[in-house]
Amino acid sequence: MWPTVAVLLAALLLWVFAQWRREISVHRAETRRVTKECAAAEARHHAAINSVRAEQQTLFNSMAEGVLILDAAGKVRLSNEAFNRFFELETSITGRSLMEAMRSHEIQELYERTLVEGQVQEFELNPTHLHEQLLQVNSAVVLDSNNRLQGMILIFHDLTRLKQLENTRREFVANVSHELRTPLSLIKGFVETLIDGAKDDPEVATKFLRTIEKHADRLTFLIEDLLTLSHLEFGKSLMNLQEVELRPIAARVAEDLASRADERSVTLDNRIAAEIRVLADPARLQQVLFNLVHNAIKYGRKEGAVILDARLLDEGLAEVSVQDDGPGVPAEAQDRIFERFYRVDKARSREQGGTGLGLAIVKHIVQSHGGECWVRSEPGKGAEFFFTLRME
Ligand code: ADP
Repeated sequence: MWPTVAVLLAALLLWVFAQWRREISVHRAETRRVTKECAAAEARHHAAINSVRAEQQTLFNSMAEGVLILDAAGKVRLSNEAFNRFFELETSITGRSLMEAMRSHEIQELYERTLVEGQVQEFELNPTHLHEQLLQVNSAVVLDSNNRLQGMILIFHDLTRLKQLENTRREFVANVSHELRTPLSLIKGFVETLIDGAKDDPEVATKFLRTIEKHADRLTFLIEDLLTLSHLEFGKSLMNLQEVELRPIAARVAEDLASRADERSVTLDNRIAAEIRVLADPARLQQVLFNLVHNAIKYGRKEGAVILDARLLDEGLAEVSVQDDGPGVPAEAQDRIFERFYRVDKARSREQGGTGLGLAIVKHIVQSHGGECWVRSEPGKGAEFFFTLRME
């Protein structure tokens, strides 16, 4: 009897033990599975966070505006490429405090103002003080649902180009007003003198009327040049580009200016080879050559020679030149003479009826053809003006 009970008990114990082991191994397998799933979920979560961060960084880096994000303690959480470029930062500033990273009292002042006011609009600063640069900053604090400070976002807009354009426009308006006022006040002065009695002397009256005519012509030239510039600025797309022969266009210009050349006994020599063809708007190309040849006659030597020439460059370009043997252009003025209203000798230019816009028009037209223009001159040995045009 006892042995049977003992066998049964042992069998029971064995069975319980076996069950217990199976349960343990099932449990272990389950734990392993859950652990694995957790690890996979965590990896997926990290991958998702990294991808969102990468997306955010790419988005911020593609922005033209600089972006700076700070945490609640004022440390940098993120700065994008535009921001780093504006402030010429070469290493990452993430994790550093604002003052330590930027060493700029203006930004520190903006940070403190934003903390007090919640947001600041249109704060202007020069980021490095090394160049003429102007940034406009908008900043705002970030609060949580309990109004607790979470950080700050600062957006930097680059206004440098806009400011430069605004200054150019203002300067242009001031110059135009000045250029208009000078001949107008002269005309008015002569008219008043005529009314006051000079009209009774036919010789004096004729002299004064000639002077009035000269200044009225100056006004007409100025308005024509201003209109040309304005058409060029607004009508880039209206260019009538075509393959044109250079020599006949130069010949037409020489013909149009023949009487002016005669007045100063200047010879015009068109040496442009017949086979040279360029891709250009014929009317505008003619204007470029007209302005350059006109200047060469005006500022060149009396009884001198003006030579028009062209050569082919390797890069599929033609280089056209207009050369005179006058006093030339001083080295310091050679870059500036293509600016609007810049003249080396103001009195000489006005005396010749110049508007100060001829070379600005040349530059504008040449550049809108994709070419370049420049002058080479050794004072006393004449001036040679060059421009390039594509051949196809
Ligand atoms: P302007 O109406 O005064 O001639 P431009 O824009 O045509 O205006 O020329 C600008 C200035 O460049 C002129 O005032 C003159 O001082 C200088 N310049 C232009 N062409 C020549 C040249 N061939 N030789 C010397 N100076 C020149």
